[in-house]
Amino acid sequence: MVNARRFPDPPRAGKPTIGVLALQGSFPLHIASLQRCGVEARRVRKPEDLEDIQGLVIPGGESTTMENLASRCGLFEALRSAGRDGLPIFGTCAGAILLGKGSERPERLQVVDIEVRRNAYGRQIDSFNAELFLASFETPFHGVFIRAPIIEAAAENLDCEILGRHEGHPVLLRNGRILLATFHPELTDDLRVHKLFLEMCELERGKAGEEIREGSGGGQARENAF
Ligand code: GLN
Repeated sequence: MVNARRFPDPPRAGKPTIGVLALQGSFPLHIASLQRCGVEARRVRKPEDLEDIQGLVIPGGESTTMENLASRCGLFEALRSAGRDGLPIFGTCAGAILLGKGSERPERLQVVDIEVRRNAYGRQIDSFNAELFLASFETPFHGVFIRAPIIEAAAENLDCEILGRHEGHPVLLRNGRILLATFHPELTDDLRVHKLFLEMCELERGKAGEEIREGSGGGQARENAF
């Protein structure tokens, strides 16, 4: 569970900074989405890169590779500490796998006490698109699922807000300052999920907030980056 430690308020001058774990996977597209939301995006490749950020995105990709690379430079433990200390973190797909818990590889950060099962849709439908009805969004969100995991959120876990489901499984879930998505919002032009995360980072105040609240794009899918 996340708690206590206060992360710095966004600097009054200049744009707030969101880190993006940039070891492998779809980090360039998350950086582009965040920049389109009007915030600064910083590549995170070593523990020091976590300093003075207001939130962090862990992208989709290959969770075992990310875990390996992060462990080698001490970043895995630093990510775990940051998450447990209350840094807002948005994990998409492989990022959600890493943030959760699970018995199979890779080792998990276990920042949220939720089982996230890798490649759980099986080979037959390992990649698919679905229109998602997400809480507080007036129109559907185009969900791109690529070898997606399944979040096994226990209904009795009252700390979890399930913000969307597909075929009964949670696909967007909030637990305190942690946001998990099993789909890839960065592969669309639709910024609504990134903006939701930025609101969680309390960046809606001031100038940056005005940029964040400006209209989002449509739901057009981009070319698959995997
Ligand atoms: N299947 C990948 C894994 O296990 C995740 C896929 C993705 O991030 N799109 O790490």
